[in-house]
Amino acid sequence: MQNLYIGVDLGGTNIAAGIVDRTGKIIAKKSVRTNLPRPESELEKDIFNLCSDLCRENGYSLNKDIISIGIGTPGSVDGKRGIVWSNVNFGYTNWTIKENLEKIFGMSIFVENDANTAIVAEVIAGNAVGCKNALVVTLGTGVGGGAFVDGQIYSGYNYSALEVGHMVIRQNGRKCNCGRRGCFERYASAAALAKDTAAAMKKHPESLMWQVCPDIKDVNAQTAFDAMRMGDPTGEKLVRRYVEYLACGLVNLINIFQPEVVCLGGGVSNEKEFLLDLLQPYIDREDFARNARERVTVKIAKFRNDAGIIGAAMLGVNNA
Ligand SMILES: [Zn+2]
Repeated sequence: MQNLYIGVDLGGTNIAAGIVDRTGKIIAKKSVRTNLPRPESELEKDIFNLCSDLCRENGYSLNKDIISIGIGTPGSVDGKRGIVWSNVNFGYTNWTIKENLEKIFGMSIFVENDANTAIVAEVIAGNAVGCKNALVVTLGTGVGGGAFVDGQIYSGYNYSALEVGHMVIRQNGRKCNCGRRGCFERYASAAALAKDTAAAMKKHPESLMWQVCPDIKDVNAQTAFDAMRMGDPTGEKLVRRYVEYLACGLVNLINIFQPEVVCLGGGVSNEKEFLLDLLQPYIDREDFARNARERVTVKIAKFRNDAGIIGAAMLGVNNA
């Protein structure tokens, strides 16, 4: 008996599984291609084979050493019943994944939306341990969010809450593929910062950003930050404007949820303290409860690269 958990990050490209201990440490991991589109039943078989192989190859017994298996998947997910109501990317509706997998595995399966697994990871074993109210905001290709409210995952009606990336921060602003204009993620995602950086580089051939990144095709969210640290005014202007957008959306969320902790994840969170130091003055000025005895703390998420696997595994701890 090893008292371990398995977390499965069900992505559009890969299915990644990891054996995780209750502190959130990954002991072993393995992945296979998702190979969409195909029927749900085939995916379920692959999840079972992946978890079985993962255990066998690392000397563990699925039945004896693993307490439960958690699955993080995109889409609107009823976590209590373990049903994926709709997953547009996979083309599935009304997928009773928990029931089906429990039959195949003969053990407890937990299922959640993948943004919700990120908050579970931070609350159970990360940088928001023990918080009854906490948020995770992920600054990646888009801007994602997960919330813990009064000690529980907050999913909302239709299991579609916390689409924080589609909160408008500039009315009539940049067009978003959700149909609105001025969405938070059109300004504060890593992808948006990379796009703004490339545009600024074209206008400023003298910028040190060309030294940081000689090929404009390789520009990413780090380019402007690196140039700013080298003393480049164009890089600094970009970063300061980026932080203003980020702060605007974050303070909106802080004022709505008033969480104990906000954890920032995704690519931009690699800037760590440098980013937090730039953000903090906005929060000190605009957090509605700035004069309260206990203040909201903005931190970097503990789990970033493998947050999907760890969060899915921690569903088992959260439900224990
Ligand atoms: Zn949008």
